[in-house]
Parts: sequence; C-alpha cells; structure tokens
Amino acid sequence: MNPLIRKALNKPYRLSPEELRELLSLEDTEELFRAAYEVKLRHTGKGVSLRGLIELGNYCCKDCYYCGIRKSNFRVGRYRLSEDDVVRMAQWAYEQEYGSVVLQSGELESEKNTVFIERILRRIHTFAGENLGITLCFGEQTEEVYRRWLEAGAHRYLLRIETSSPELYAKLHPANHSFERRKECLRTLKRLGYQTGSGVMCGLPGQTLEDLAHDIIFFREVDLDMIGMGPYLPHHDTPLGQGIELTSEYAAHQLKLGLKMIAVTRLYLHDVNIAATTALQALDDRGREQGLLAGANVIMPNVTDTEYRRSYQLYENKPCLDENSAKCRNCLHWRVLSIGEEINWGKRGDPPHFRKGNSK
Ligand code: SF4
Repeated sequence: MNPLIRKALNKPYRLSPEELRELLSLEDTEELFRAAYEVKLRHTGKGVSLRGLIELGNYCCKDCYYCGIRKSNFRVGRYRLSEDDVVRMAQWAYEQEYGSVVLQSGELESEKNTVFIERILRRIHTFAGENLGITLCFGEQTEEVYRRWLEAGAHRYLLRIETSSPELYAKLHPANHSFERRKECLRTLKRLGYQTGSGVMCGLPGQTLEDLAHDIIFFREVDLDMIGMGPYLPHHDTPLGQGIELTSEYAAHQLKLGLKMIAVTRLYLHDVNIAATTALQALDDRGREQGLLAGANVIMPNVTDTEYRRSYQLYENKPCLDENSAKCRNCLHWRVLSIGEEINWGKRGDPPHFRKGNSK
C-alpha cells in the first residue's frame, strides 16, 4: 500500500500539506478511493444521507465571476418562490423520508428576507419538529441574522469559501467581495452552534494542487462538520467561463480531480459529512455514485418544482433540469443500490464530527 495512504488510514490529520498534495497528484486512484471509502464506512457506516434541495430564488446581490446567477447576468430570468411553495416542497421531502432539506438561494441581506426565512423555518417546524434536518445556504449575513434563523429552527449552514487562497479568491470575485468577511462568517456560524459546512471548487483556472492541499488544511482549521465541493464547471455567461470549452478531456480531468479531492479530504478529516455534489453528475452520468465510492456520504437531490430548475444554474449542463422530484427520488434509490450502498431514509444524518462535539 502507498505509505501515505497507510499513514492517513487510521488517524485523522496526519498528513502534511506536501503529503496531501502528493496524494492529489496520484494518477492511479484505485487504492486511494478504496481507502477513503473504508474510512467513510468506519465513521458513517453503509448508508447515504439525503438532503432535499429547495432553490428558493435566484436573485443575488453578489457578482462572483464564475456564477451563472450573478447579478450582472441579465440573460437569466429571475424568480422567487412563495412562502407556501417552499413549505409545501419541504413537507413533500419530509413525507418522502428524505430526513433533511437544504434551503438555498442567491445572497440577499435585508430584514424582509430575514423574516421570510424565519417564517418558513417556523412553519416547517410545526409539522416536522426536530425530525427534519434543515440546512441553510444564504451566504454572508450578520451574526444577529444567523442567530435568529438558528432560533427559528435551522440546524446547519453551508457557506462555501470556494478557495482558501486569498490571491485566487481576489481573482474570482470583484474587489468589494471580502474573503475576510466570508471566513469570519464561518467562524461565527461555528461559534453559534450550527453544524457548519463549507467547500471549494476544484480545477479553477490558475488553481494549483498546493492550493487544493491548503484548502483541506483550511477545512480543519475552521473545524468544519460538512464539506460540499465540486469540480469547477464553466458557465458561458460569466467572465470566468468565457472561452473554456467543455471537451471530453476537460470533463474527464475535472471529474478525476473532484473525486480525488473527496477521497483525500475523507482521508484527512475522517468523520465529517461529505457531499457527492451534482457537479460530478454533470460531468459523468454516474459521477455522484463515483463520489460515494470515493468517500462521500451525502447526496442532495433537487426537490424544487421542475418549472424553476432552469433558472438556477450556477454552471452549465446541470443535470435533472427536466425531472420532477418523484422521478429523482426513484432514480436515486436505484443508483445508490447499484453500488451496494443504501439510503438512510427518514434519518437526519447529522455529521459524526459534530455529534462527537469534536470542536477545538
Ligand atoms: S456564487 Fe452565490 S453569491 Fe456568488 S453570484 Fe452566485 S449565487 Fe451569488
């Protein structure tokens, strides 16, 4: 066995940045993925947790250079779900035994938006109590807003840093987007008691394997409970995506890098939840299943009504745009069974790292 894989297998946090980089550069990934899957089995067992994803709306006050719903993209039709629609979709996911939902939208900071989310959280709580895990993904907010949403019933918050390199972050965002504020928000979420998640894009223009190795160290420094990362996929209506062609070679490279990041992150952190994101499936029909076999333990099927899905594309080629939620549920069930795994129906699937109170 590769000595670095052996070193990482039994205890977390054992590898140096150089060793993480070395694992990320492996061409033959079979042993790496097998070891990461073994660690996943040890900490989360045989089983995949679901997060029913509800995309509340695509208005955003930010202008990230890679994102298809950035505020300067005037080609995208904007929408906002009603409170009743969001609650109905969450109830459907609950009744279908998804165990958890993710409420996600572009970033909006206003009292009106804060109250809107609070009302939704309280209504979900009336029928689901503590039996439905709720993750929020609404970007940077003040500490007071995070606290109000926690008190209204949220359990988890996902705020992707996208890269832990300040230099690369500055190339991906306009000057008024603050890397420091994003990091501070993550620390605040952790301190308030959220199960806290973040993640990065892999294979960005100008990104090195050293950057990715540092991202994995960053996950530990922030003491994250959940990781959601995916390969970078270009969107042609964005400054970053123009001129990048999604050839089959490019897709294969991005997929492999994304899978390696999952595996190496699992081998370094051990007991966190890691999502096999939809971006993997955009590159290969069985991308998410490959992600699960490389150490991921969470899948986020879309439960948003089909009519809205085309308007929420952070990248192009997003899969399942024309599917409805019931079809997605059935499809996922068989996909997960096909790799010898099973779905943890009706369970929240809290990250073991958080359950252990494994904070610094
Ligand atoms: S990545 Fe998020 S914050 Fe940035 S433009 Fe897209 S939706 Fe807005």
